Amino acid sequence: MTKTIPVVEKILSANDRLAAENLARLNAANVFALNFMASPGAGKTSLVERTVRGLASKFRLAVINGDLATSIDAERAEVAGASVSIQINTGGDCHLDAIMLQEALTHLDLTAIDLLIVENVGNLICPANFRLGVHNNVLVASIPEGADKPYKYPGTYRGVDTLVINKIDLLPYVPFDMAYFRRGVELLNPGVTTFPLSCVTGEGVDAWLAWITAQVEARRIPQA
Ligand code: MG
Ligand code: ZN
Repeated sequence: MTKTIPVVEKILSANDRLAAENLARLNAANVFALNFMASPGAGKTSLVERTVRGLASKFRLAVINGDLATSIDAERAEVAGASVSIQINTGGDCHLDAIMLQEALTHLDLTAIDLLIVENVGNLICPANFRLGVHNNVLVASIPEGADKPYKYPGTYRGVDTLVINKIDLLPYVPFDMAYFRRGVELLNPGVTTFPLSCVTGEGVDAWLAWITAQVEARRIPQA
């Protein structure tokens, strides 16, 4: 009997095994890890900066940036106050995968880190298909992208744990039907934890930082 397994499935299951290894390493070191996904220009790096600036006095932070090229974003994270910042240039790949994260983790002293933020490549399609082995996958949506994105990228909206709606300061200037957007999100990912905020004005950022703080601190409590 011949069984045909699509190659893409094999790749994904190999990726999932490595993701599980990454998660085990992070857990062993009590590191809470986030993966930011978004289309280009949604404000992932601005959110990294806001988060690092807001939490650098509380936690030891590391940032891993995935980009097709350049180390501009990693430099921005460092300026904002991350203790370590690593750039992964994917050399044209449009997503990060578990093996890239595994390699990046070898450059970090995980015992000296409380919070790890991974900034994925700007792309709303495939990053959601490649688990990295983090605790929480965060989708950063933004007002100028338009309210139809959940309907157009259901796979990404369905697969995330947390949703940030960035650039809410632009709501008075850009047509954006929030009810339509939220309905689409609710259909795909009912009850997903959502943070509307603006990295420019800072509105909503405190709730976001409080949520991360609670996640990091929860990991510090020894298990009974
Ligand atoms: Mg960026
Ligand atoms: Zn890709």
